[in-house]
Amino acid sequence: MARVAVVGAGLGGLAAAARLAAQGHAVTVLERSGRVGGKLGLLTVDGHAFDTGPSLVTLPQVYRDLFAATGGPLEESVDLVRLDPAVAYRFADGTRLAFPGEPSAVPAALDAALGAGAGAQWSALMARAERMWRISEGPFLRTPLAGPATLARLARRPSDVATIAPWRSLRGLGAAYLRHPHLLTLLDRYATYSGSDPRRAPAVLATVAYAEQAFGSWYVRGGLHRLALAVAERAAERGAVLRTGCAVRRVVVAGGRAAGVELADGEVVAADVVVSGVDAAGLYADLVPTSTTAAPRRALARATPSLSGFVLLLGLRGRTPGLAHHTVMFPADYDDEFDAVFGTGRHAGRPRPPADPTVYVSAPDDPALRPDDDSESLFVLVNAPRHEPGRGVDWDEPGLAERYADRVLEVMAERGLDVRDRVRRRVVRTPADLERDTGSVGGSIYGTSSNGARAAFLRPANTSPVPGLLLVGGSAHPGGGLPLVTLSAEIVAGLVGPA
Ligand SMILES: Cc1cc2nc3c(=O)[nH]c(=O)nc-3n(C[C@H](O)[C@H](O)[C@H](O)COP(=O)(O)OP(=O)(O)OC[C@H]3O[C@@H](n4cnc5c(N)ncnc54)[C@H](O)[C@@H]3O)c2cc1C
Repeated sequence: MARVAVVGAGLGGLAAAARLAAQGHAVTVLERSGRVGGKLGLLTVDGHAFDTGPSLVTLPQVYRDLFAATGGPLEESVDLVRLDPAVAYRFADGTRLAFPGEPSAVPAALDAALGAGAGAQWSALMARAERMWRISEGPFLRTPLAGPATLARLARRPSDVATIAPWRSLRGLGAAYLRHPHLLTLLDRYATYSGSDPRRAPAVLATVAYAEQAFGSWYVRGGLHRLALAVAERAAERGAVLRTGCAVRRVVVAGGRAAGVELADGEVVAADVVVSGVDAAGLYADLVPTSTTAAPRRALARATPSLSGFVLLLGLRGRTPGLAHHTVMFPADYDDEFDAVFGTGRHAGRPRPPADPTVYVSAPDDPALRPDDDSESLFVLVNAPRHEPGRGVDWDEPGLAERYADRVLEVMAERGLDVRDRVRRRVVRTPADLERDTGSVGGSIYGTSSNGARAAFLRPANTSPVPGLLLVGGSAHPGGGLPLVTLSAEIVAGLVGPA
């Protein structure tokens, strides 16, 4: 039995703790803030409750595996609801599309909204994406990344390499299959699931669209934060000790390997294995002696950090008739948004909040999230540049956040969802707030982005140059988003092995 110290109680840290405790290890989780969940957070204001981070659950099998491996079915702990429609899309030219949650209904819905043939184009792309998924899921998503060796595993059959097309961008793949511009926009959006730019992200991200369509879009009744609480409870049931209000100041390295962690108050928690669930860029910059971590820091410096998000939490009087669970409202010029967020193209070197952003609205019809039945709680998310005072956007600049919140509400009104005269409470959360609350450097949502053909190999691995120090969570392999974070915990638990 190993003594394991887990740093951070985000979903990654919690899932690793549950698995490692179930494997018989003595696990202590040390969380800086007063509560568990990290980005998978909850905020309650005047009876309005809001998930502050994720609003969409995909790949439910990943959580089923986690719960089954740690003592009992997922469904006994959380109430998962499959969404149909999955998303209501609104395009700049007024076209509306309710994307079905039932895969077999997708082609007809696309034909009806976009014209005959749109469904067939999308289906052909999804068939390719399914082949990509089958090739990459096991070797890439469920195993530690071993640099070129992982590529070699993928490359065993030349036809597999041709299917994955590592030289191709997501945009390029879309252009080969999709002629309707709205279909290209739909596909582009999946790059943002890893905080990336579709013009630079690899074609294999089409698997995200495939997985969402094939395995469904899901909601956790009561709010997604309940998933974090359920995993924390499972970890505690298996014997893990969860300590909140404990900031880790450094990883203790003795005899060339991780020997525990030191807390902000000087207490040392001795351990045989340290599992870091904090942002890898922060870990390697601040918590581990820099002499040992030159290689991952070099890789991080070469990677493009993922985009961040600007969040508006709106407690509204009354209900919006016909509002879907998820609504996405696209601008006329999607590329301008990516250029603004990443500081490329027309905005080269000068990232800025997009003037005409895509607006994502999540409006769960869930009594647990509203004070009464004549009110609703909306989560509004816009892609945003990171918080980089001095070099990019300083989200703490006086007035900026409130001005931009007004702009987002105006954009919503322009696109047919004007809620301005119904706002009872409004909470604004900027990339700077995300950085302060969760320690994610610059407020990047997903660690490093998938921009560039080598991005996956620049993302920090689950192992580190310090023996005994392992990395879990969205800034490490295989990447960000709840399902990949949960898979990273499976990988780390496999690396530690049974007691
Ligand atoms: C606005 C937003 C929307 C999103 N939408 C979705 C979505 O719809 N679907 C989806 O799948 N994913 C979504 N994501 C991404 C998802 O939330 C993350 O990938 C995932 O929650 C990250 O989990 P994690 O455990 O890696 O890190 P985190 O949740 O960031 O956890 C890290 C934890 O470490 C703690 N910590 C930091 N430093 C220290 C220290 N020194 N000592 C101790 N503790 C420390 C932090 O307080 C935090 O609790 C979204 C994220 C955001 C912010």
